[in-house]
Amino acid sequence: MHEVLVVGAGPAGAATAIHLARHGRNVVLVDRAHFPRRKVCGEGIFPAGVRELDQLGILPGISEQISRLRRVRFTLDDVAVEGSFAGEAIGVDRGVLDTALVAAARDSGVDVREGMTVRSLVFDNRGAPIGVATDDGLLEARGIVAADGLNSRLARDAGLHLPGTRHVRYGISAHVQADIDTEAVDVRFRDGYELYITPVGGGRANVALLGSREMVRSLSGQGMAGFKAAVAGELGGGGGAVCFTDEPMAWGPFPARRGRFHRGRLVLTGDAAGFQDGISGEGISLALVSARECAEAVEQALRTGRTAPFRAYEWQVRAHARNSTLLARLNLFLAAKPRLARAALQGLAQRPETFDRLIGINCGDQRFRDLRPRDLLPVALAMRRLRKASG
Ligand SMILES: Cc1cc2nc3c(=O)[nH]c(=O)nc-3n(C[C@H](O)[C@H](O)[C@H](O)COP(=O)(O)OP(=O)(O)OC[C@H]3O[C@@H](n4cnc5c(N)ncnc54)[C@H](O)[C@@H]3O)c2cc1C
Repeated sequence: MHEVLVVGAGPAGAATAIHLARHGRNVVLVDRAHFPRRKVCGEGIFPAGVRELDQLGILPGISEQISRLRRVRFTLDDVAVEGSFAGEAIGVDRGVLDTALVAAARDSGVDVREGMTVRSLVFDNRGAPIGVATDDGLLEARGIVAADGLNSRLARDAGLHLPGTRHVRYGISAHVQADIDTEAVDVRFRDGYELYITPVGGGRANVALLGSREMVRSLSGQGMAGFKAAVAGELGGGGGAVCFTDEPMAWGPFPARRGRFHRGRLVLTGDAAGFQDGISGEGISLALVSARECAEAVEQALRTGRTAPFRAYEWQVRAHARNSTLLARLNLFLAAKPRLARAALQGLAQRPETFDRLIGINCGDQRFRDLRPRDLLPVALAMRRLRKASG
């Protein structure tokens, strides 16, 4: 029997495994994929995530293959507003990042098993999880970390997932060769979807599109013709031609919600513990922060033989996610109401420092209580403009 089994070697699983190996634990890390593998993502990592990567010692090895991001720009029609990150943010291809994390796990002594699919959670005769069934047989462990992403099989088997909401969203992403601002994440609100353009180093950009199930279905038909046309329309200049360096892929649905984060010795982390929406750009950061806290909770649970640390861990992660989840919901509300969104952006364009503060709140570096009364002015202006516009 292993001390700890981690299922899923994305940022959450690989980071949890590294932290636990550094505590001296014997860890096995399993993923169905072989790395590098593709992951549908916007590939922007905000300051909290960069700090975690720094602690893990990942940054020096990938520093030649990233873009250093300083700004975020929101555009709707002819209105644009730009804000700055308070700390270091980066754009990085997930093929590069996730492979570096898996390599670091291996270097830390983790037993990494790529190409191994977990089929189900295995329980003892009292209904407590004891391990997982894989194509290569049973793996048992004293601690089991489910880091198997958005559609977590283990969260489902453990009965920890909650039913989905009625309005779900999907994402599509791909890489293009592009001559763009290499320091900014460019978010464009379009009719029915948002497009995120993030430089990821080497003259390439990630383009990620987020929209409703119906919108993503219509754009992904006929070999992603609609998505490619939308990207060409944005980045192709007058000629409309864009050089894709890989095939677009779609992923979803989200949000994914969880009732609790643990059952017995099984604990969830990263997207497996819930995911609101790609619109926040905080998923990887949250995965890395929650991985460190998850590893701490597993370590304490192994030492004490109790599961109380898992409850404290759940509380911490929910607290980290609260503000970015709230802002994501606000953005989604605005994205569905273009006139209101336009008016809000016009207000923010007049007070870019408010936009900076909102970015800080989204990234967890500031709190809502840091907003000043004057920061509410853009909202008031938006409401006034809207009232005027509607006569
Ligand atoms: C369209 C879109 C845009 C996004 N943009 C951003 C962004 O710009 N910035 C940001 O920070 N976040 C973004 N996110 C969120 C981000 O991608 C996730 O939050 C992040 O990948 C979570 O990491 P994770 O390790 O929890 O899961 P994942 O990265 O999904 O890793 C899960 C791993 O588990 C493995 N796995 C799954 N099932 C099994 C199984 N049964 N057996 C074995 N292995 C299994 C998978 O192969 C995978 O490697 C975006 C998400 C979407 C969908």
